[in-house]
Amino acid sequence: MLIQRPPAYHRWLYPQGLFFGFYTTMKHFTLNLLRLRKMPTISYPEQKRIRSDCFKGKHILTKKLDGSIRCTACMLCQTACPAECIKITASEHDNPKVEKFPISFQIDLLRCVMCGYCEEACPVDAIRMGKEYEWADFAESNFIMDLDHLSNRPSLKGGVISKLPT
Ligand code: SF4
Ligand code: SF4
Repeated sequence: MLIQRPPAYHRWLYPQGLFFGFYTTMKHFTLNLLRLRKMPTISYPEQKRIRSDCFKGKHILTKKLDGSIRCTACMLCQTACPAECIKITASEHDNPKVEKFPISFQIDLLRCVMCGYCEEACPVDAIRMGKEYEWADFAESNFIMDLDHLSNRPSLKGGVISKLPT
């Protein structure tokens, strides 16, 4: 059976929409071409954006003034972590003034949601969220950061001293 449909007048507007679409594209293309310095894009990776102080990137374990790790293995960050991606193994220290220290500290970056709760939970500024965000890799195992990587990777240039360094 042949169904009689009402005439679709809106189809007549289609070429106008096409024209205005092209017009807008060409307008922005020309304006961006003439005002190159005001372009919102950058030539990454040669140029990099400056990250704000509250940016949450790759974690850092800070150090004491003597170069040892600041972490007291209190497990607060591990407990606060919603992604359960922090694993700490604590041990007693030879120095009686130091109660505990971590013999192993691992963060699985593939599970981490970059929430910063670990940084907030730490009572001694032993863990911080840094500004690094480029960690693409092929092997899954390379996303598990250990104690050495967290505190001594080359980009940290010798390590970061805690705000409570003793
Ligand atoms: S940033 Fe959040 S998810 Fe990542 S390790 Fe810290 S607490 Fe866990
Ligand atoms: S990083 Fe801070 S919160 Fe986490 S175990 Fe060490 S001292 Fe405790």
